[in-house]
Amino acid sequence: MCGIFGIFGHPEAANLAYLGLHALQHRGQESGGIVSVDGGRLHSHRAMGHIADVFDTRTLAGLPGTAAIGHVRYSTAGTSDVRNAQPFAVEYVAGVIAVAHNGNLVNAVELRARLEAAGAIFQTNADTEVIVHLVAHAREADPVARIIAALRQVEGAYSVLFVTGDKLIAVRDPHGFRPLALGKLHDGWAFASETCAFDLVEAAFVREVAPGEMIVVDSEGLHSSRPFDLPGVPPESFCVFEHVYFARPDSRVNGQSVYRVRERLGRRLAEEHPIDADVVIPVPDSGIAAAIGYARASGIPYDMGMIRSHYVGRTFIEPQQSIRHFGVKLKLNAVREVLDGKRVVVIDDSIVRGTTSRKIVTLLRGAGAREVHVRISSPPTLFPCFFGIDTPTRSELIAASHTVEEIKRYLSCDSLGYLSQEGLMAAVEAGPKGAQRFCDACFTGSYPVRIESHQGNLVRLGATTGGRA
Ligand code: AMP
Repeated sequence: MCGIFGIFGHPEAANLAYLGLHALQHRGQESGGIVSVDGGRLHSHRAMGHIADVFDTRTLAGLPGTAAIGHVRYSTAGTSDVRNAQPFAVEYVAGVIAVAHNGNLVNAVELRARLEAAGAIFQTNADTEVIVHLVAHAREADPVARIIAALRQVEGAYSVLFVTGDKLIAVRDPHGFRPLALGKLHDGWAFASETCAFDLVEAAFVREVAPGEMIVVDSEGLHSSRPFDLPGVPPESFCVFEHVYFARPDSRVNGQSVYRVRERLGRRLAEEHPIDADVVIPVPDSGIAAAIGYARASGIPYDMGMIRSHYVGRTFIEPQQSIRHFGVKLKLNAVREVLDGKRVVVIDDSIVRGTTSRKIVTLLRGAGAREVHVRISSPPTLFPCFFGIDTPTRSELIAASHTVEEIKRYLSCDSLGYLSQEGLMAAVEAGPKGAQRFCDACFTGSYPVRIESHQGNLVRLGATTGGRA
């Protein structure tokens, strides 16, 4: 769970990268960084924290040049380390190179062991560093040929940006797990995980980088090639969870508006799990678009039954006396005027461990809700993700070990309904792109890249770029 942004051919490259990363902040809040290129030299600044805290006018002034790449990294407790902050920038035998990666390599452990046996010294525990070493170890003279040789050895999810002394290179893995879009900005070019970043910097969306495509940008323009096409492998496995939860609703990913997809998920949910109720409310912000869809399809009025605080920081002072449900109350508060005496349908995008939903049900009842009906705009989350979404192990996924009825009892709601797998696919495929292949392994367990199983536990997981899995 990371966001990447790149820009080539603009006098304010680092400032625009800063803005682009700001728009991608939802994809990672642990650390941020930008590497700029000026006269063949790299300049780098990376730190822990949100983009607005990582950079100020002084640090941005230290990033001269007309090309830059940037990264925001997802936060997970205990694994925060500025050494893992990206982009990684190195000098090696063929020059300078920096890399910013969104995704998760599934064979990073084997590759790292092989590289270490050959003498490589790793400075981080991120899988992305494997890519840097593979580039450095490649036999080819040309940096672009080295990148191709390196990425041909990695498996899994990678939407990745590189800068060298005179080029910006964008690559999407052959499955296209994670998004990556190309934009035009005056005489320059931009790349971003999501199009919402283009809106902020006023770049025009040109198209998505295709699965398996490499785009090299240099002073002569764009050069597209497909060095990573895999024979016999289903070409496209875009992450359906980007549509369900992860991407921002004002973005277009995989050819369609995230907002429209979520609204359709909500409409379909209303058809599959209707209920007599007085009000439809979202869990803000993740449930908003689906709740609007549910309300429209069901005819039940939509209202904001909870308000989210946008100022919840990473650290807060725990009260001395224990306050029940403190964590969720810090983030969400109920609006009694909307809920009191009402039969409430509450919409969220997913249930992972079940702890949030359980607290939300208690919160709504505490504000007077007479009935609470939980509706989830995706199927039960049954399997962990190995391709860049931070999910806990199977044993922590409540739906992996409990029936819907058991989960309903745990949440202590009056009814619970999940969208079906068919409903999910119908909603995403009702868009302009029509029928297509997605990675839906978190719901089905059908992983597009083989993940080896050992005694019932899925192994073969590299250190992630995006936190624990
Ligand atoms: P839980 O308490 O574990 O059931 O959390 C469920 C909530 O987490 C839902 O409101 C989702 O919007 C949100 N969510 C779903 N997937 C993720 C994820 N990979 N990382 C962080 N939050 C998530």
